Amino acid sequence: MISVEQALAKILSYVDVLEEEQKPILDSIGQVLAEDIYSAIDIPPLDNSAMDGYAVRSEDTRGASRQSPRFLRVIDTVMAGSISKHSVGPGTAIRIMTGAPIPAGADSVVRFEDTDEAQRKGASDEIAVLCEVKAGLDIRRAGEDIARGSRVLRKGVVIRPSEVGVLASLGRSKVKVIRRPTVAILVTGGELVDINQPLPVGKIYDSNTYGVAALIQRYGGIPKILGVALDNEDSLVAKLHQGRDADMLVTTGGVSMGDYDVVKDVLAKEGEVVFWKVRMKPGRPLAFGRIKGVSKAGVARDIIHLGLPGNPVSVMITFEIFARPAILKMMGKKNLAKPTVEAVIEEPIKNKSGYCIFARAVVEKRDGQYFARLTGPQGSGILTSMTLANGLVVVPEDKLGVDKGDTVQVMMLDWTEER
Ligand code: AMP
Ligand code: MG
Repeated sequence: MISVEQALAKILSYVDVLEEEQKPILDSIGQVLAEDIYSAIDIPPLDNSAMDGYAVRSEDTRGASRQSPRFLRVIDTVMAGSISKHSVGPGTAIRIMTGAPIPAGADSVVRFEDTDEAQRKGASDEIAVLCEVKAGLDIRRAGEDIARGSRVLRKGVVIRPSEVGVLASLGRSKVKVIRRPTVAILVTGGELVDINQPLPVGKIYDSNTYGVAALIQRYGGIPKILGVALDNEDSLVAKLHQGRDADMLVTTGGVSMGDYDVVKDVLAKEGEVVFWKVRMKPGRPLAFGRIKGVSKAGVARDIIHLGLPGNPVSVMITFEIFARPAILKMMGKKNLAKPTVEAVIEEPIKNKSGYCIFARAVVEKRDGQYFARLTGPQGSGILTSMTLANGLVVVPEDKLGVDKGDTVQVMMLDWTEER
């Protein structure tokens, strides 16, 4: 049996970064930029005013003060988006709004607050300047944010709202990014019923399809739901074939001791099994391999297969640990690790298994320090424990447990601050 680290390294060694695609900027959030972005324009395009005020020649304000104002003749008003036809000569000023281009002849802007604008109640053909201004004051220079020809965004960054804003400021409506993976989900088990059906006695609703689809979406993939396969070869093969054009296949169930034979036989026929079983709890019977698939263009290729256990909690935890980094890698992301904090554990956890334990926990920050307590019973069928948890306490396989008060590593599912 291999360790969690070995299993993850093995899986990632089979994962390739996907191809590029062209996307409208607003649809590219969370994707990785696949081109360097250069600007064809200066931003701002022209010197413009940072304030509502008067464009002046700074030398005309020399010696001005509240006691000794300098009076200037107002020859025009210029709004953002228009250009004054006039130029500022000696003894004159142009009323100017924030963002409006600086008129010829002016070298600075006096804010309304430093004039008697407020007393004049509206447009006047004269203004009193109440302080001296230096040349360049309150002028935003052409190209001060982005100079024409410069590289604005680097290939490899993740698109966030700020990148979308910058792309829009350059006039870009589309951008080249790494495409999102399609991840097919196939759940197995004769006991499972889809949520849109009535629930017969003895059956349970299939929660894994939806839990996994939600995780796929959360981490940037596109879920492709294949539905429920029965625990027999024909049913499994038929469903598998419907997922052949996905980039990755996630199955749940059918990998534990008694069941595994069917899934294993099918996978061996349809591809190869790379490993089965990992030294972890929950999630030990995890299987990983490849199956024969086809690209959207119809070209034969292998797709990776993660055979997660059936228990809904094991599914979510093994997804976080193995499927999430695989999806992120396909999307071209570099930082694949889940954020981790150090926390003081508030109750002991025993570990006689020799496996790495992931215990569902509630992490809270008190007096600048993180504390973690367990969510309660840790059975892997208790899915509500995942709704209580915001982190997973990691007890390494070589540790016999942790005592109350020990410092532990907690893999954060969410941040406490967000709850
Ligand atoms: P298995 O690994 O197939 O033996 O499943 C382990 C446990 O998880 C059993 O109690 C199953 O009923 C349950 N289980 C398996 N698949 C699902 C599913 N898709 N939704 C909810 N529970 C499931
Ligand atoms: Mg089953």
